Amino acid sequence: MTDAAGAPTAGERMVVLGRLAAPWGVKGWLKVHSYTDPPAAILDYPVWQLARPGGGWQPVKVVDGRTHGAGRDLVVALEGVLSPEAARQFSSRDVGLRRADLPAPKPGEYYWDDLVGCRVTTSTGCHWRPGTSRKSTSRRSASSSTGIRRFSGMDAAGPRLSIEVVTLFAERVQAALAMGVVGRALERGLVRVGTEDPRALTTDVHGTVDDRSYGGGPGMVLKVEPLATAIERAAARLPAGSPRIYLSAQGRRFDQATARRLATLPGFLLLAGRYEGVDERVLDEVIDEELSIGDYVLSGGELAALVVIDATVRLMPGVLGALESAEQESFGAGAQGSLLDWPHYTRPETWRGREVPGVLMSGNHAAIRRWRLKQALGRTAERRPDLMAGRELTIEEQRLLDEYREERKT
Ligand code: SAM
Repeated sequence: MTDAAGAPTAGERMVVLGRLAAPWGVKGWLKVHSYTDPPAAILDYPVWQLARPGGGWQPVKVVDGRTHGAGRDLVVALEGVLSPEAARQFSSRDVGLRRADLPAPKPGEYYWDDLVGCRVTTSTGCHWRPGTSRKSTSRRSASSSTGIRRFSGMDAAGPRLSIEVVTLFAERVQAALAMGVVGRALERGLVRVGTEDPRALTTDVHGTVDDRSYGGGPGMVLKVEPLATAIERAAARLPAGSPRIYLSAQGRRFDQATARRLATLPGFLLLAGRYEGVDERVLDEVIDEELSIGDYVLSGGELAALVVIDATVRLMPGVLGALESAEQESFGAGAQGSLLDWPHYTRPETWRGREVPGVLMSGNHAAIRRWRLKQALGRTAERRPDLMAGRELTIEEQRLLDEYREERKT
C-alpha cells in the first residue's frame, strides 16, 4: 500500500471513475467496473483513491492491470494485495480520483461535479440541476459508461428509473445491458442499472455463497448470508419503497402489464437466483414479490432479469423516441389494446413472387388503419384466443374479424 499520493483532504473534489468488484484468480487481483470511456482509460492512473466504507478515501497504487475476456472486463493488481482474502476487503469500493488530477474534458463534455448546481437545459427543452451530494455523484457516474457525460443529447432530469440486480454474474449482466435500446437509455442517463455480487461480500477463502440443502437431495442452495446483505446494500441505493423482486420459476407470470407497472416506478431490485434457488427465509425476510418469465426452468435468474429490464425500459417515455412505437406493438396500451401486432413490410414491393399488400402503398390512411386492426384482431383470435377472451369487441372490430375469417376461407 502506498500513500505517496496521500489521501484527499476533506472538501477536496473527487470524481468516481469505477468500482472494484470481486477478487479474480489466486494472486489477489480484482475485477473492476470502469465508468471511463474507453473502460481501460481508468488504468492510465497509477494511483487510485478507494472510498472507505466509513467515509473518506484511501490511496492505493495500481501495480498491474489489463482487459480480461471480451467487452468491458478489467482486472487489476493493487500494491500489497497478494491473496483473494486480502482482495476481498476492497470489493465493492468506489475508485475515485481528485478532480484536479483529471485532464480537462473535451468541448461538449463535462465532469458531473463541474455541473453540480448548474441549470442544464436539454435539447428538448427540459431543465434540471445535477445533484449536489457525493452519493448522487457516484451513482450518476455509474449510470453512464463514462465518467465524462455529454449533455447535449439528454432528454430528461437524470435517471428516471434506478434498477439494482443482485447476481453472481454482475459483469455479464452489465455487458448484456450495454447493447441496443437499453444500452442507449443507459448511455443517455434515462435509466441506471447497478449490480451487487454476493460473492464479493464473502469472508472465507473460497468465496462461498451456497450450501447443501437441509433434508438432502441434489443441488446447492444460495445461503442466507451474504445474499441478504447484498440485497440490502443494493436496496439502499434505490429510492425508498422500490420493490424487491425475486426472479423465480414459481413466481407470477411476467407480462406487458407488469412491465408497464415497473416502468412507472422510480426504482426496483431484481434478485437472480442460481443453483436450486434461494434459502426461503431470505424470500420471506427481504423480498416483496416473485416473477417468472415463463413455464420452464432456467439455470439462473440473470436472463430473466435481462428480459424484465429490456421489456420495462423500452416502455419508458423517450426511450424509443416516440411513445407510439411501444403502444402500437403487441400487447400495447394504445388503441389496439392487448392484441398481437399486425404484419409489417418494407422494400422491395415484390420478393420471390410475394407482394406487399396493396392497401399499405395506397396512401389511404383510414384504409391502412382498418387493414392493420383487422390483421391484429384476426391474428390474435387465431394465435392467442386467450387474449380475446375478456375483450368486448366494438361493432367495427366484430365486422373486421368476420371479414378476416371470410378472407382466410378463400
Ligand atoms: N429449483 C427451482 C425450481 O424448481 O423452481 C429452480 C432453480 S433454477 C435452476 C435457478 C434460478 O434460476 C432460480 O433461483 C431463479 O432465479 C431462476 N429461474 C429459473 N427459471 C426461471 C423462470 N422461469 N423465470 C424466472 N427465473 C427463473
